[in-house]
Amino acid sequence: MKKVLVIHYGELALKGGNRKLFEKKLEENVRTALTAAEIPHHIQRQYGRMVVEEGVADAFTNEEQIISVIQHVFGISTLAFAYVIHGQYEDIEKTVLQLLAGHDFTTFSVRARRINKQFPMSSEEVNRTLGARIVEEYNKQVQLTNPDIEVRISITTDGQFISFAKQRGAGGLPNGTSGKFISMLSSGIDSPVASFRMMKRGARVFFLHFHSYPMTSRASIENTEEIVQQLQQYQPDSILLLAPLAEMQKAIVRQAPPSFRILLYRKAMFDIAQRLAHLHRAKGVITGESLGQVASQTIENMTAVTQDIRLPVLRPLIGCDKQEIMDEAQRIGTYDISIRPYEDCCSLLVPPSVETRARAEDLRRFQDQLPWEEMIADVIVNTERRVV
Ligand code: ATP
Ligand code: MG
Repeated sequence: MKKVLVIHYGELALKGGNRKLFEKKLEENVRTALTAAEIPHHIQRQYGRMVVEEGVADAFTNEEQIISVIQHVFGISTLAFAYVIHGQYEDIEKTVLQLLAGHDFTTFSVRARRINKQFPMSSEEVNRTLGARIVEEYNKQVQLTNPDIEVRISITTDGQFISFAKQRGAGGLPNGTSGKFISMLSSGIDSPVASFRMMKRGARVFFLHFHSYPMTSRASIENTEEIVQQLQQYQPDSILLLAPLAEMQKAIVRQAPPSFRILLYRKAMFDIAQRLAHLHRAKGVITGESLGQVASQTIENMTAVTQDIRLPVLRPLIGCDKQEIMDEAQRIGTYDISIRPYEDCCSLLVPPSVETRARAEDLRRFQDQLPWEEMIADVIVNTERRVV
C-alpha cells in the first residue's frame, strides 16, 4: 500500500479552454516548490487532480514539511495524504478497518466517490456497507456533519484512494497563469500585501524597489530583499529590480516647490516602472495604494501621477482599511520586516505639507524644467537585477 499526496484544484476546473494550460503550470509550480525544498518526488496528473509520490521511498519522510511547501502553491483548493490500493470492495474494507485501528475517534462518516463506473458497487452502497462494518467492528457512531473522522474513498481507474483528513490549500490561480507584472515594492506594509494578492490571482510578479542610496543607508534594500524572500514561498526564483532614485530626487528638490516633491518622485517611479515593464514584457504595474490613506493617495493625485502610464495600474488594496492590510501582512509573514525602521526614499526631503489635489499640468510644468527623459533613462541603465 502506497501513501501519496492528492492535490485538488477547485477553481481551475472552471477555466474551460485554459484548463490544460493551468494544470500544466500548476504541475510545474508544485515541482519547482518541491525541488526548492529538496523533496524527491514524482507527479502524476489524473483527471481533475494531481497525485504526488515520494521519489525514493514508499512514503514521505517528512509529511509536515511537504504539506507546508504545497500549502504555499497557489491554485490548490485542498490537499490530503491518501493510501492507494488496487483491489475490490473487500480490500477497501480491510484497509480502512486496519487504518482506523490507529485512530482515536467517537463519531465518523464515510464518503465514497465512484469515478470508475466499472467498479461494481455504487458510492451509496460503499458508504452504507462500510459504515455498518465500522460500527460493528469498533462500536462507533455515524455522524454526517462534523464527525471526528471522515473516511473518504475515491474509486478511480488509477486505484482506490483512502484518506482521513484534508487540508486547505492556498487557493487562487497558479502563479504565472495571468502573465507578468511589475510590482512597486517599498519596504512598507502595504505593497507586499498588494503583491501577494496579485500573485494569488496568477500574476508572475517582478519586484521593483526604488532606493535613495547613498543618500540613505541600504536598510530599505535589505528589508525589501527579506520581504521578497518571505514572498518567495509563494513564488520561487523571484526577481528584484533595484532602481537608484537619489539623483532624480535631488534634481526634483532643486526645481519643484516642496509640496510637489513627493508627487514628482511618484511620477518618476511610475514612468520608470512602465519602461521596465516593457523591457520585461510585463502587462501591468501593481502598487499598494489605498484611497485616502495618506495625503499623496487622493484620487486627484493618483490620476495626475499616472497621466503618462498606458499600462494598467493595479491597486488591489484601493478599498482596504489599514487594519485589514496589517492583519494580512501578519498572516503572510511580511509585517515584522515592514515595521522595521528605515529611511523611505519618499520620506527623504519631504516637506510637512503635500499637495492633495494636484493636476497633471502642474506636474508636467515641473517635469518640463528638468531633463526628465534623460534622468529616467539613467535610472533604467543603473537598475540592478537580482534573483532572490
Ligand atoms: P507601502 O506601505 O506599500 O510603502 P504606503 O502607505 O507607505 O505604502 P506610499 O509610501 O505613499 O504608501 O506608497 C504608495 C505605493 O507606491 C506603495 O504601496 C508602493 O507600491 C509604491 N512605492 C512607494 N515607495 C516605493 C519605493 N521606494 N519603491 C517601490 N515602490 C514604492
Ligand atoms: Mg511607504
